[in-house]
Amino acid sequence: MESIRRTRIVELLQREDYGTKVNVKGWVRTKRGSKAVNFIALNDGSTIKNIQIVADVEKFDPEMIKLITTGACLSVNGEMVQSIGSGQNVEIQALEIEVLGTCPADFPMQKKGQSFEYMRQHAHMRLRTNTFGAVFRIRHNMAIAIHQFFHERGFFYFHTPIITASDCEGAGQMFQVTTKNLYDLKKDENGSIIYDDDFFGKTTSLTVSGQLEGELGATSLGQIYTFGPTFRAENSNTPRHLAEFWMIEPEVAFIDLDDLMDLEEDFIKYCVKWALDNCQDDLEFLNKMIDKGLIERLKAVVNTDFVRLTYTEAVKILEEAIAGGHKFEFPVYWGCDFASEHERYLVEEHFNKPVILTDYPKDIKAFYMKMNEDGKTVQGTDVLFPQIGEIIGGSVREENYDKLMARIEEMNIPMKDMWWYLDTRKFGTCPHGGFGLGFERLILFVTGMQNIRDVIPFPRTPKTADF
Ligand code: ATP
Ligand code: MN
Repeated sequence: MESIRRTRIVELLQREDYGTKVNVKGWVRTKRGSKAVNFIALNDGSTIKNIQIVADVEKFDPEMIKLITTGACLSVNGEMVQSIGSGQNVEIQALEIEVLGTCPADFPMQKKGQSFEYMRQHAHMRLRTNTFGAVFRIRHNMAIAIHQFFHERGFFYFHTPIITASDCEGAGQMFQVTTKNLYDLKKDENGSIIYDDDFFGKTTSLTVSGQLEGELGATSLGQIYTFGPTFRAENSNTPRHLAEFWMIEPEVAFIDLDDLMDLEEDFIKYCVKWALDNCQDDLEFLNKMIDKGLIERLKAVVNTDFVRLTYTEAVKILEEAIAGGHKFEFPVYWGCDFASEHERYLVEEHFNKPVILTDYPKDIKAFYMKMNEDGKTVQGTDVLFPQIGEIIGGSVREENYDKLMARIEEMNIPMKDMWWYLDTRKFGTCPHGGFGLGFERLILFVTGMQNIRDVIPFPRTPKTADF
């Protein structure tokens, strides 16, 4: 076969230099046609769109033609031709075809219209489908948008550790990290495991949040963000929780609650707009196949002001809804932690747009949140989104050493080994705050997918760590 440099399909589809000889490589989506002519839709992952390969059957070895089945991998040399019937401007008239990889009939993605449940059991091959191609191209774009957003605003990308010795991050159950022989654990006289001889000489876990280290970054570099893997061993088998997910955590010095809410809103709008501007083909595909309201919803978010509401005001709205006959499963009273039915009522029924809730009762929020003057509420913010629920959790941090210590003692927070965090409040403390956005929750929103397992290539959830 003549050696011609490969062109990606996304580039080929833009070109109009008909007559040029090109090489494309990719996987067969479909093959149709007659005894005389075969039409092969080829996809190489560079775009949702396929290029049509036209093969005059008589020019090729019939044994080779038989090997061109759905899923097979081909290298095709051919001539660019203006196309009438393929839905694109250009197609390839094949001159030489090499089957790089045959695809037997037990290819798990052979049939169209398989359920997402089925595809999860074949997560290694679901990547070859149109839907997952679209989702993961968008996921890439969102990562770029995030770095771009922060870089443009002078935030520094700050790497916080994945292995941590602090057990007070308080955001859920942790996965322990050890090199100890679990079949032969040394214990002290009280039966407690001795960790002196473990790799780090103490108990360590995978991080549930980079925030505490991020605060050290913000109180020195001014404004930072983290973007890394996060692990929570919470046994919540919901369509919104993973055991391993990616979190973005900006942390900013000299910020107050209003600035923080502005940052949250600007940030999400920037990412959603980025998707609308840069992922048009994939969004159109998802809008057609997955969720007919998707693009409308994305545009609405970019063009609307988010509602800003205190927790106390939200409780009133929910109580009025109940008085008006609305039924919730869980009770509503001042001090309760909202269940997702409450959050969704506010976002999807009452306001019908994103809501930023603030000033939560101190007892349902983390120890580090800044106390308001009422002594009852803290400067925490959650951003609630239609379909998703909580997408961001953030707060202004308590920067006063004595007030922070009082909360730590009141809440019995295990602060062993946390002297370094407290030092931020001891040496040149400053007002600061930040938030955490779950990357996959953003991807859920932007793609219209329903289950968080379908927006990360290799999901980790209770009892699943295949692939
Ligand atoms: P939730 O109430 O939904 O369990 P949380 O209050 O535990 O979330 P935070 O500790 O505030 O969450 O974490 C910040 C953000 O990280 C959340 O707003 C959410 O977007 C995301 N997040 C939290 N837990 C998970 C998880 N298990 N899987 C995926 N994303 C998560
Ligand atoms: Mn939260």
